[in-house]
Amino acid sequence: MEIINNYINGTFIPSTTGGVLPLINPATGKKYTTLPDSDQMDVRLAIEAAKKASSKWGAMDVQQRSVVLNKIADYLERDLEELAFAESTDTGKPLSIAKTIDIPRAVENFRFFAAGVLHFASESHLMGKKAVNYTVREPIGIVGCISPWNLPLYLFSWKIAPALATGNCVIAKPSELTPMTAHMLCKISQEAGLPPGVLNVVHGLGSKVGKAIVADPEISAISFTGGTHTGKDIASVAAPMFKKLSLELGGKNPNIIFEDCNFDEAVQITMKSSFSNQGQICLCGSRVFVQKSIYQKFKEVFVKKTLALKLGDPMNMKTDMGALISEDHLKKVIYYGKLAVEEGGKVLTGGNRLLMDDDLKEGYFYAPTIIEDLEYDCRTNREEIFGPIVTLTPFDSEEEVINYANSSTYGLSATIWTNNLSRAHRIAMEIKCGIIWVNTWLLRDLRTPFGGMKQSGVGREGGEEAFRFFTEPKNICIKI
Ligand code: NDP
Repeated sequence: MEIINNYINGTFIPSTTGGVLPLINPATGKKYTTLPDSDQMDVRLAIEAAKKASSKWGAMDVQQRSVVLNKIADYLERDLEELAFAESTDTGKPLSIAKTIDIPRAVENFRFFAAGVLHFASESHLMGKKAVNYTVREPIGIVGCISPWNLPLYLFSWKIAPALATGNCVIAKPSELTPMTAHMLCKISQEAGLPPGVLNVVHGLGSKVGKAIVADPEISAISFTGGTHTGKDIASVAAPMFKKLSLELGGKNPNIIFEDCNFDEAVQITMKSSFSNQGQICLCGSRVFVQKSIYQKFKEVFVKKTLALKLGDPMNMKTDMGALISEDHLKKVIYYGKLAVEEGGKVLTGGNRLLMDDDLKEGYFYAPTIIEDLEYDCRTNREEIFGPIVTLTPFDSEEEVINYANSSTYGLSATIWTNNLSRAHRIAMEIKCGIIWVNTWLLRDLRTPFGGMKQSGVGREGGEEAFRFFTEPKNICIKI
């Protein structure tokens, strides 16, 4: 299997120290290749390369930048099968999901921002006959993009595509648990004619490479997706340096199911929002609140359908759920499964690690788990587990469920199931989350603002929001 190297100044090179980290396949628990264990020296090399490339790339016609990004999209699409295989191997997610969601979305991200940037315009403000203001939006220069392991290429490209489209040079670090598709993207960028130094990918640990990117004074903006605790660390370093910050952090999302919902659809989609990607999506609904009159019926169908999910080899196209990302993460999920029971929860299904056969016997599998009888504000219902564990809680009134939903310190997304239009609007207005879905989940229009309230983050991604984040506005006032 191919060894991963850093991509700096358009070439693939090992870390300056020559150190490497093992890359593990979570479905087998076995090392399959290595990646560079880079440090501050490697980040410096990347910054020097970006500095050389920056003025030319930033000044290039936007149409030309758009052509290169579209080529990257075309080549990603061409290599979909290989990329999906690599993503599934790195993450343990079902190949079917990588093929139909992860890689197609990475293609779409490049196409979307390549097209969008052609329409990105700045404002002018006329002051009667006195003066005219016009605002230009310049590239920031060198930006840092740090992404997590759950949707590797999907989230990596969601950051770097708008950064590149608006004329920035990028220093990027994918999660060291899932670096392969970022490595493959570097090759594709080279083939598509992205000039050397415009995209630099430095692999390694957050505690070394991530920290060095955040702390370097020549990187003026940080776009980060990951855990809330890491976001706090990043803000504590970057904010006193007055860097621009976009932080997309954790969630503890409520699913609110009213008695007047379309029942079958509500159960089906709640299954998806609970267990897709083994529950490792920041938008997964981990707290399911069901109106009392349908609670019993919902519980029975939900458990029955969960028991029918096929867990196992990610490479089998019939598999619904694969492995968790790592041994450490498996331990965390096991811990929360036990905590839920200690807190008085009743396990309706799951609650344990699953041991597979043959090649998969050391893989990190955990059964999809549903727990009831917990207080809405216990630790299991407050803390982000980021795995296949959901809780079921009955409610009576709108007021009660709004209180439950908003009791979290997180505020990323919420899903509401009802056929009562006024109620849908009412609840949507009251919930303190950045993203609300009514009678659906994970339906995304890339033009809309994406991000969370409270401890789920700062700033928004998507469409104009991303273009604005990756540019500096400058107002020029001319007296007439
Ligand atoms: P982490 O916060 O642990 O890591 C995210 C990235 O940051 C990784 O590349 C990591 O490197 C790096 N990193 C770690 N420490 C530092 C540091 N001090 N400075 C700079 N970079 C650092 O998150 P996970 O990878 O565990 O991802 C899961 C989390 O991401 C969950 O909380 C989830 O909710 C959140 N998430 C949020 C989304 C959103 O849009 N709001 C979307 C997807 C996930 P390393 O891998 O070496 O630790």
